[in-house]
Amino acid sequence: MSEASIFTKIIRREIPAEILFEDDLCIAIRDIQPKAPTHVLLIPKQEIPRLVDADPEHQSLLGHLLLVAGKVATQLGIGEAFRLIINNGEGAGQTVFHLHMHIMGNKKYTEDSLDF
Ligand code: AMP
Repeated sequence: MSEASIFTKIIRREIPAEILFEDDLCIAIRDIQPKAPTHVLLIPKQEIPRLVDADPEHQSLLGHLLLVAGKVATQLGIGEAFRLIINNGEGAGQTVFHLHMHIMGNKKYTEDSLDF
């Protein structure tokens, strides 16, 4: 069996992290190298390497993540303006191959910029 991802180790409390939210299906942690004043990672407990590896069986989990992302953003006070980013694959900047969503806020984003 392949080694657990760094995020699974956080979920198992084998590695420390600032946990902001957790339920049966996912966990939200503060990004260790924030690229915005508020930068949180929302991670499903199930290890799916990339978004393209998700199957129809993950449909409700993926929907759950979107709902939780909105609730976590609201709880963090950025509910009126935030970005959700999923990097899929090395070429897109994915470095941890355990699907996760970046919730980014408290930064001035413009409508024509898609950067972090
Ligand atoms: P990505 O580049 O989309 O795969 O995002 C991975 C993110 O995980 C990066 O923003 C890292 O800063 C973050 N990260 C890596 N290790 C940790 C950790 N131990 N705790 C919190 N965030 C982490």
